[in-house]
Amino acid sequence: MNTKPIAKSEILKELQEYQNQDYKYESGRILGSMCTQAHPFAKEVFIKFLDSNLGDAGLFQGTKHIEDEAIKTIGSFLGNPEVYGNIVTGGTEANLMAMRGARNLAINEKGIKNGEIIVPESAHFSFKKAQDMLGLKVIHAPLDEEYRTSTDFVQDNINKNTVAIVGVAGSTELGVIDPIQELSDISTDKNIHLHVDAAFGGFVIPFLKDLGYHFPDFDFTLPGVDSMTIDPHKMGLAPIPAGCILFKDNKCLDAMAVDTPYLTYKQQSTIVGTRLGASSAAIFALMKYLGREGYAKLAQECMDNTNFLAKGLKDLGYDLVMEPKLNIIGFNHPQLSTEELADELEKRDWRVSMSKCPEAVRIIVMRHIKHENILDLLSDLKDIKNN
Ligand code: PLP
Repeated sequence: MNTKPIAKSEILKELQEYQNQDYKYESGRILGSMCTQAHPFAKEVFIKFLDSNLGDAGLFQGTKHIEDEAIKTIGSFLGNPEVYGNIVTGGTEANLMAMRGARNLAINEKGIKNGEIIVPESAHFSFKKAQDMLGLKVIHAPLDEEYRTSTDFVQDNINKNTVAIVGVAGSTELGVIDPIQELSDISTDKNIHLHVDAAFGGFVIPFLKDLGYHFPDFDFTLPGVDSMTIDPHKMGLAPIPAGCILFKDNKCLDAMAVDTPYLTYKQQSTIVGTRLGASSAAIFALMKYLGREGYAKLAQECMDNTNFLAKGLKDLGYDLVMEPKLNIIGFNHPQLSTEELADELEKRDWRVSMSKCPEAVRIIVMRHIKHENILDLLSDLKDIKNN
């Protein structure tokens, strides 16, 4: 550390140089990110609440009220406003809390010591962290021909140690929605916790439904769904970090609460101690400001661009892994390997990512990817195809 203070202007200049090395969403060339530019109003509110610490909520009772209201609002478009939960750092923390709550409840109520969870092959890697951090054994259910979890496998592999089963609504790689209704039936029948990871799909599916798109039920309207992850910092347009964990009842939160003797609240269930009130305030404000109509408009724009890109890819002779269900597309070149295709795109200054299951170049058509960016991308893909 420098001994003498350095002028702000000098520090800002140095920071600017570093920031210039970052890719920018507004370039429209980041194709593989589930995050995007936060909405300007959400950023404004976020800054206003930067000092609010929900880890010591007794000092920030107004902000705590905002968090509770945000939870109710999110619950309301996921089928139940009477849910319990927190605005957390992202989908990873939300999934960890869901698995920790389910595990602790199973220990308390069923005496299960060596807990197991069954997750789809398509589940996000946060469940690997749950395995490591919570000592849970993770069993992967294979996917069917539409890349959805095999409910037969789930049914057959539940045993006396199973503490949770997991379905995904908007898978990380392809945006696929698992058969949550069937998982709900299994969960009810076997009395096993069902967690739905809607980190990506949660802020899209309900609003596309408003517009007449058909999706099967995937949320708390199903009796077997016990908890859900939904990320405001993905399609919710909140500043990072903002995830959300919801529980149907507060038993799971109680089961993982630890005493916090020197704080203003007696107990804490979140993984993170000191935590942002700014995320809660930002998503609270943005949900009011955009309303269901605003989120529906956003979802529609992303789907229009997705469908336009999908058609363009097919017209050029690329192979789509499947017709997109949400605003995520997986595709391959008919001759090049996935890696070679990704390299060709990177050479042309596109930032792409690859899916593993199945192997494909993966594009998440977030709101920073505009129609004109897609035209440029298709032109480069035409060039790659012709060479
Ligand atoms: N769950 C799903 C389905 C995801 O797609 C992701 C991230 O892509 C996560 C969880 C983890 O979210 P985060 O990166 O916010 O921790």
